[in-house]
Amino acid sequence: MKYIREHLGAKLFLANLIVILVGIGILAITIQVTIPAAFNRHMGMMDQTSMMNGMGQGQGQGLGKTLFENFRASMFESLGYAVTASVIAALLVSFFISRRIVAPVRTLTNASQHIAEGHYAERVQVNGSDEIAQLAARFNKMTTQLEQVESMRRQLIGDVTHELRTPLTSIKGYMEGLIDGVLPSTTETFDQIHHEADRLSRLVDDLQELSRVEAKAYPLDFRSVAVPSLVQTTLKRLSPQATAKRIGLRSSLLADLPHILADEDRITQVLVNLVANAIQYTPEGGDVTISAIRHEDEIHISVKDTGIGIPPEHLANLFTRFYRVDKSRSRNAGGGSGIGLTIARHLVEAHGGRIWVESIGEGQGSTFSFSLKTSQ
Ligand code: ADP
Repeated sequence: MKYIREHLGAKLFLANLIVILVGIGILAITIQVTIPAAFNRHMGMMDQTSMMNGMGQGQGQGLGKTLFENFRASMFESLGYAVTASVIAALLVSFFISRRIVAPVRTLTNASQHIAEGHYAERVQVNGSDEIAQLAARFNKMTTQLEQVESMRRQLIGDVTHELRTPLTSIKGYMEGLIDGVLPSTTETFDQIHHEADRLSRLVDDLQELSRVEAKAYPLDFRSVAVPSLVQTTLKRLSPQATAKRIGLRSSLLADLPHILADEDRITQVLVNLVANAIQYTPEGGDVTISAIRHEDEIHISVKDTGIGIPPEHLANLFTRFYRVDKSRSRNAGGGSGIGLTIARHLVEAHGGRIWVESIGEGQGSTFSFSLKTSQ
């Protein structure tokens, strides 16, 4: 029974069997019911004919022949009724059975039509566990994913519009101030405009990079990479920024760390991003430390700062695009649009690793870490 419930082929076989059995049953019953009456009638007709013809020579032979013909006639008559009844019964049974089997396919067809028209909330009811039920379950899963993609698309358009509007409004405001003579045409005003234009151009670059990493439209050149050289490149690149802010930027690496398997440029990009954030969100005089440890067949690289920290309720969302702990704070602090960590997460995950953040709370500093596989 379970086999039948789970396999459409078995269901169709059983349906055909039922139609055949019902046909045979009705055929047999109708013959049983109609044959005595048909036989009696034909025999009655035979008696009248023989009485009218009278009994003569060769009477036995003639009687046998008429008896056989009457029997055949009654048999055909009864069979005629029986075949008609069984064909009608078989048609009715197959009609109801095929309706039952085809109903979920029809539901799926209607649902897919709705989805094609953009109604992503459409779901079909899953009954049973045969192939059609499995198809319905997959269909629902696909619809859920389509709904998510659609909502992400809408959200992305909303976010991008919002992010673009802010610097554009500022630039427009400065320009109007200049035109109306409310703002002085000083270097400071032009610097502000330049700063906003710069932010706009960084945002566009970030968005382009984000769309590339989200679509995985970039090659990864996996090689065996030495962690100290990765850290040195990052330190060299960001030392000027750290020095300008009087932040102590240093590294603490264990000796004999195994090499990692990574695309050096991409992982440097991740580390630079984390260290740049650490410098940005750490007040003057603070410290930023890059460390690396071995953990089974992985290397964990961490960037620890003594900066402003992150309240616990924000920790889980930091790697979501456009997410910022405090929008005005990060903007005033020269921060970006909340895309950097999302790009970093995509890049680390493309390497088969994880990225995470720890912070005790505001003012307590933060530690961003990611894991990569060793190359040995
Ligand atoms: P942004 O370009 O805004 O810095 P990110 O994706 O790099 O975007 O970071 C997202 C948010 O995470 C930042 O806006 C900031 O609120 C928070 N953040 C990132 N790094 C740190 C850090 N080291 N200390 C405190 N907050 C941080």
